[in-house]
Parts: sequence; structure tokens; C-alpha cells
Amino acid sequence: MKNSNEKVNNLDDITPLETRKEWKLLYHQPGRPGLEEGSKFKGICRYCELKDMCPLPKPEGGVWRCSYYNAFQKKSNLHNNVLEQLKKAKDVVHFDDNICKILTETMNEIVVHFPVKMRDGRVKVFTGYRVQHNNALGPFKGGLRFHPSVDIDEIKALATLMTWKTAITNIPFGGAKGGIQLDPADFSPEEMEKISRRFTFALGNNIGPEYDIPAPDVNTNSQIMAWIQDTYMSTVAPNERNRCVHVVTGKPIESGGSQGREKATGQGVVFLIEKWASEHEMDLKGATYTVQGFGNVGSWAARLMKSHGSKLIAVEDVTGSILNKDGIDPDDLAAYVKVRGGVGGYLKAEPIDHVTFFSTKADIFIPAALENQITDATAELLDVRLIAEGANGPTDPEGDKVLQRRKIAVIPDILCNSGGVIVSYFEWLQNKRSEFWDLEEVDLKLRKTINAAYDRVRKAAETHKVDWRTAAQIVALSRLEMVYKERGIFP
Ligand code: NAD
Repeated sequence: MKNSNEKVNNLDDITPLETRKEWKLLYHQPGRPGLEEGSKFKGICRYCELKDMCPLPKPEGGVWRCSYYNAFQKKSNLHNNVLEQLKKAKDVVHFDDNICKILTETMNEIVVHFPVKMRDGRVKVFTGYRVQHNNALGPFKGGLRFHPSVDIDEIKALATLMTWKTAITNIPFGGAKGGIQLDPADFSPEEMEKISRRFTFALGNNIGPEYDIPAPDVNTNSQIMAWIQDTYMSTVAPNERNRCVHVVTGKPIESGGSQGREKATGQGVVFLIEKWASEHEMDLKGATYTVQGFGNVGSWAARLMKSHGSKLIAVEDVTGSILNKDGIDPDDLAAYVKVRGGVGGYLKAEPIDHVTFFSTKADIFIPAALENQITDATAELLDVRLIAEGANGPTDPEGDKVLQRRKIAVIPDILCNSGGVIVSYFEWLQNKRSEFWDLEEVDLKLRKTINAAYDRVRKAAETHKVDWRTAAQIVALSRLEMVYKERGIFP
């Protein structure tokens, strides 16, 4: 991961791909199976996905590189996917054209370029984004992502998904998302603090406790939220300071965070798996599951599944893929990942390649990494009954068609991973009321709220005879349409 945005030499000589510009460069990690020098790669290369054509990788600067195709991965086209999904639902239920026109666009797109002095004394200029998609239902709400793939299109898509998510769950928020294009592994903790604070300062009044409230997402956490909170509170008048505690959610408990927020997204995923299993005669005791992404969402979902007696058998993250059919202890793996930064090299499981990971037979698959992981190719490999989408946009439209044809059930992202924003709402409420709820109360309210959203989606699927992803979209659009019709369009 450390070197994932380095440039490759002689790119023109090594890539025959016509759509090269649309492909994002990635690298093999050291120790990945099939990458031994002197042997041809077996199976499909994790990144270039060209079966048996990926020739000898070579170690360069500590990173193994596929020497011919140099490990390309298709770049996300998430925004198009999100709009395609909107159109699909609109066509089923004939939503108001004018309201759909509004929801197709984002309300505000803020791009900031800000300088930060690095530890070697050089100044680096970063680009940060905050996209506010819609606030008809309440203040803008959504996470901040720090990742090399962040760009305006990705953030627009994720902001739009947030609007659907808050609408489905009936919480009084709109949708937003933000981020910075960077790889946190390239910076020291002190530099990350400076970057986070300077980004907050650059955003200025574009965020605010009653206007737009960020939260953690990929590569951001409660510590980063605390820095953002402190920076924001330091730039308002002293007598306003403590009225701004709720400018971010997902904060550390001591700084006004909520019990249960850290695990909330994973907890929501597991509550919905429980509900789905109880309705589909799946006994979670002994049920097997695989997880892609072992960060906040994936590791919490995996750990909470353990309490049902379910068995984690395969995990994949950016450092590699692992398998143990006798079961992997999620708590032990989480402790390992905390020290080593990823699942790669975990000795209590065997290393496998990307294709073997996707082909592993299990009852449940929890994608909890990035978008566009379940494509037409990987959807064909999956051998599971249920996919519980912890990640945002993990399935592209072509992948979705394959899942529907193969009758693999899906709890779609905008429903499945809504536990995070639900508990963010609880945190925001507690801050506003100066209250502290205990974990039992938070979990109880989360279960009630997310289960009610599940019931709304199931009902829409039955009424309109559509797949659950379309049904979830219909629930969200219905609520937004109602509000726009009640209020009208100003002036
Ligand atoms: P995180 O940074 O804590 O973890 C991300 C995980 O994905 C890591 O294990 C990383 O190694 C893995 N990963 C990254 N690229 C990968 C690749 N190419 N192949 C395999 N694994 C890869 O992030 P998170 O907060 O757990 O978020 C994960 C997903 O869940 C994202 O889609 C995010 O938008 C979504 N989500 C998060 C929250 C939240 O509360 N954190 C809420 C809703 C949705």
C-alpha cells in the first residue's frame, strides 16, 4: 500500500490496454501467493486479471510488480452506476421527472487546494473535496475518505448514496461526502494531523454542526474526527465553542462520541443478516462467511458474527487474501491487523489469490472494502446465498445482473451499511441535548431503526416485484418526492 501511487517506468512499453487512462495503477504486495520469482503466475493475477498471462513479477524497491501489465485495476465509475440505479427505480414507479432532475445533480461541490508543511520542511499542496448532494430532509451528512483514488466523481457518487441512506432510515439528515486524495501510509501521524486540520480550516463554514456534519470513512477514524472538531471549535468565537461539539460524529467518547458508534456500521450489517437469516431459514450457528476489507466495517461485522457461532473462513484486504476452512478467529485476526496493518502474512490461515477468495463457498459474503468489487466476472465466481453489502457501491450494474440471474440474495449498501449514519444521528442528538446514552440503549435504538428500514425495503420489493436494490432506491425516492411535493420549489 505504501507505494501504491508511485509512477511506473516505461508505462507505454508495457501496457497493451486500450482503455489504459481509465485504469488505476496498483501494485502487487510482497509475499502474495503466485508471485515467486522464477515461476509463472498461477490463476488470475489479482490486479491485471489476465488468466495465465501475467508473467514473472519482479521485486522493485521492496514491492513486487507484475512485470508486464504492472497490475492495473479498472477505475471506479461509481457515479454513473448510482445514476443508472436512480433511473431504474424511476422507470419502475414513474417518479416525478422534475424531482428526479434535482436529485440527479449535487447541490454543492466544494474543491479546496491547501498547503501543508511536511516534516522535511517542504510544502505540499493537497486537494480536498466536500460534495453536498441534498439537504431536503436535514443537514448534509456523510463521511470523509482519505485514499489515493478519491476524486470529484467518486465523492459525488458517495454523497448521493448518503441521501438515499438517510431517506431510507427516516433520519433527519441529507447526504454529503468528502475526502482528500492521498495515501495515509505515506505520511507520519503528525503530518496526518496537520493535513486534517488544514483541510478543516480550508472548508471553513462549508461544514457546521447544523449544516454539514462529517464522519469517518475509509482511512479516517475517531482521532481524525477529534482533530477536525478541535480545529472547527477553535475557529469560532469562544462563546460559541461548546455549541459546536456536534460538528462531526464518530468522535472519541471522551470528546462527545457515542457508545457503539465505532462498531455501528458492522453492527447494523449483522442485525440485518440476523433478520434476513430468520426469514430465510438460515441457521447462523455454524453458518460460514467471508469478508472483503478488514477495517472498521469488515472487522466489526466479522467479530459480531462470531457471537452467533458463525464461522469466518476467508478474508481479503489490500495486503492479501487468506483462507482457513476450519475457521479464522476474527478477534485474533483483528489484533494481528492492528499490529501488522493488514491480513497478509497471517499464519493461522493459508494465503490465497483473489479468484480463490471470490470462489470460496460460504453462506454469506460481506464486502466491506471499496466500490466495484463485484463485477460480472467476480459475481460469476461467488458461491454464497447472501451478500450483505457493508461497503458503499461494492457491486457494479453488470455484477448486479449476474447476481440476480444466479438468484443470490443481496442486502443493498444503502440499507445494509446505514448503521453508521444511524448511530451518528444518535451521537448528534446526544450532543445537542447534552445526554449520554449507554451502549444497550444505542444498540436497541439502532436495531429498531435499521429493522424498520429493512421492513420498508422488503415491502417495496414485494409491492413492485423488484430486486432489493431497486426497492431500497424506491423507498428513498418516495420519501424525497413527498417532501419536495409538500414544500414546492422556491420561489
Ligand atoms: P477502513 O479504512 O477502516 O477499511 C477499509 C478496508 O478495505 C481495509 O481493510 C483495506 O485493506 C480494504 N481494502 C482497500 N482496498 C482494497 C482492495 N482493493 N481489495 C481488498 N480490500 C481492500 O474503511 P471502512 O470505514 O471500514 O469502510 C469500508 C467500506 O464501508 C467503504 O466502502 C465505506 O464507504 C463503507 N462505509 C463505512 C462506514 C463507516 O462508518 N466507517 C459507514 C458506511 C459505509
